[in-house]
Amino acid sequence: MEQLASVAVGRPVKGPFTYVVPPELEGRLRRGQRVLVPFGRGRALGFYLGPGQPPDGGAVLRPVSALLEDTPALPDDVLALVEFAAAYYRHPLGEALRAALPPGLADPAEGPEPSPEVARTVVVLGAPSVDALRRAPAQAATLGYLLAVGGRAELDELGRAVPGARAAVQRLVERGWVAVEERAIEPTVAEGLGQVRPDRLTDAQGAALAELQGTLDTGGFHPFLLQGVTGSGKTEVYLRAAEHALSRGGGALVLVPEIALTPQLVGRFRSRFGSSVAVLHSGLRDRERLLHWKGLRSGAVRLAVGVRSAVFAPVRDLALIVVDEEHDPSFKQDEKLRYQARDLAVVRAKQAGATVVLGSATPSLETLENARRGRYRRLRLPARVDDRPMPHIELVDLRRVRAIPTGSDQPPALSPPLVDALGEVLGRGQQAILFLNRRGHSAAVVCEACGQGVPCSRCDVSLTFHLRPRNLQCHYCGERRPLPDRCPSCGGQLVPVGAGTERVEAEVAERFPMARVARLDRDAATTAERLTDLLARFARGELDVLVGTQMVAKGHDFPGVTLVCVVSADTGLLLPDFRAAERTFQLVTQVSGRAGRGREPGRVLVQTWNPEADAVARVPAHDYDGFAEHELGWREALAWPPFSRLVAVRIEGEDPRETAAVARKLGDRVAALLPGPATGVRLLGPAPAPMPRLRGKSRWQLLLKAPRHALLGPVLDQLERDLEVLPGGVRVVVDVDPGAML
Ligand code: ADP
Ligand code: ZN
Repeated sequence: MEQLASVAVGRPVKGPFTYVVPPELEGRLRRGQRVLVPFGRGRALGFYLGPGQPPDGGAVLRPVSALLEDTPALPDDVLALVEFAAAYYRHPLGEALRAALPPGLADPAEGPEPSPEVARTVVVLGAPSVDALRRAPAQAATLGYLLAVGGRAELDELGRAVPGARAAVQRLVERGWVAVEERAIEPTVAEGLGQVRPDRLTDAQGAALAELQGTLDTGGFHPFLLQGVTGSGKTEVYLRAAEHALSRGGGALVLVPEIALTPQLVGRFRSRFGSSVAVLHSGLRDRERLLHWKGLRSGAVRLAVGVRSAVFAPVRDLALIVVDEEHDPSFKQDEKLRYQARDLAVVRAKQAGATVVLGSATPSLETLENARRGRYRRLRLPARVDDRPMPHIELVDLRRVRAIPTGSDQPPALSPPLVDALGEVLGRGQQAILFLNRRGHSAAVVCEACGQGVPCSRCDVSLTFHLRPRNLQCHYCGERRPLPDRCPSCGGQLVPVGAGTERVEAEVAERFPMARVARLDRDAATTAERLTDLLARFARGELDVLVGTQMVAKGHDFPGVTLVCVVSADTGLLLPDFRAAERTFQLVTQVSGRAGRGREPGRVLVQTWNPEADAVARVPAHDYDGFAEHELGWREALAWPPFSRLVAVRIEGEDPRETAAVARKLGDRVAALLPGPATGVRLLGPAPAPMPRLRGKSRWQLLLKAPRHALLGPVLDQLERDLEVLPGGVRVVVDVDPGAML
């Protein structure tokens, strides 16, 4: 009898697939090993899962082509986590496994396993006579370039600048004229301001840390919610808990929403742990990523700080996982494997028998409810460190304030109270942050005569007006168009409406010509370097006012900031999403928390048209608990999460009629599959998605709600079998625990 192997293929196809084990591989296969297998007309990377079952129908099986390694690249615990994730989020296992590997291991086309590379610098040792190089033009050119740039250059740079430089360097080394220096690549993340280790913890920090140390000492799965107001010193608790885990020989993993926006946090881990921390983020070059990955895999590095994908990092002997700002929406991936990294962090901690800490000033209601039910232990940091007061927050009711006109024909974005407050702060030589969650100059341009806007040709939204470059842009699909002189439908005059960050920046500059103003959004911070540079200039006090999108709201710690203005609390409030209020409260609280972190107290002004909305009204009193109580009340009444589990089925297609027909058919099918009403499983829809057209595609959705996730499994299994016969132009995506409803 020939032996069979079950293999997950690293392609977006369901599996696993069965292959024959060739004689030379008998007895050598271990779970998780990477193999090459024939697939279609080519070959694909695969993962050996275990002995295979003969398929029904007696199809001819092909043999495994090659075994790529003796020791599996992915450790057992990561393999188990990916298996859980692929099953729970309904994604092909092979592709999920492949995505968990660093580049270089994920692509067998790159040949044998590359060694972690080092940076190579070429240094001139001596200058030969001109004659000596007459018949070696490439060597002459290489040496010429090196001498022109001061005698040394990176090999990579040389390779790009001089054709044939790599071979020439080899020859020049042999002839003794240059040398190549090697050094390990350092990650390119900018360091924050070096921060000292505080001598004393606050009482609340001390109590929280003692609990964490206790569970780290006893071992086992222990989930915690660390609920601490902004500036209460949560990071110091993470740092010391990580120290404790490492001192006991364990590994630690710290997940953060966005590394580029939190150089200070990374800097604090760096200054505390030096090179024994791996920093994992999307801006890494391939070989840096591989280097970090290998350091962790080998156990040489025991601590990783990274963004959501780092939940799959091969940290050894994992004892502690921290999820900072656990409520942040960026922990949910919205393509391919649609995982929620915070949730997977808890799963991983459970599998590993580790302590997991979910930290936030404004916990997600899912996490809060887990704490309320006693599943997570709650630790609180109720006050800021050093007796610093919480910022003083006031609402500015836009229905009541009258605008001071500006030079432009638009109503100003900043009301008189904001202008006054800015003037005071600037007069005292302090700094301000202005937050508005909309890029560009104006939300839209609208015709004065007919009232129509200029819509995107591919999405159901108005185009946003940008000043630099001056054009109209779609913030959903990226379409760009010149601003028409006149209304395309009636020829009337077009006027801009609704402020964006560019306009706020211009308004501040106009009112306060002496102020040094900068903007922080995706248009201004186009590269990681520019972003870091902007944040560093603001931190050094070289800028007075920072205007920006949610990029300014992240965990920044700028002691000079005494004023924060929320230009509009309303932008996200009215979105057709059951989390709209929660997100608004979180965002406004988080940005408010940037004020008054130094010696001077902070002040926050929040402009709004909806001062009575709960998510806005409770901000001034820092009343997260009251907000959460109220919010959980109606969520429970309407059976929204955390009182139910959701699965969104999104239907997208080129042809509106065909898409609608598929949506209706799926709806009927799901309705027939649902278990009885007594189970509490419900179907909402099919209905056009809140954004019914995106990138030229029609969009529909079905929403499944259930008291427990497991109740939806059989329905979705059957649905997926049905989906195998879908019309060509229609795509269906199943999103488990969706993050956004759009
Ligand atoms: P959070 O993450 O809760 O917003 P941080 O951890 O950033 O707060 O702490 C806010 C500031 O207080 C930081 O500058 C930090 O260095 C400082 N800090 C933290 N703990 C202490 C302490 N025990 N004593 C003095 N300063 C502290
Ligand atoms: Zn568009």
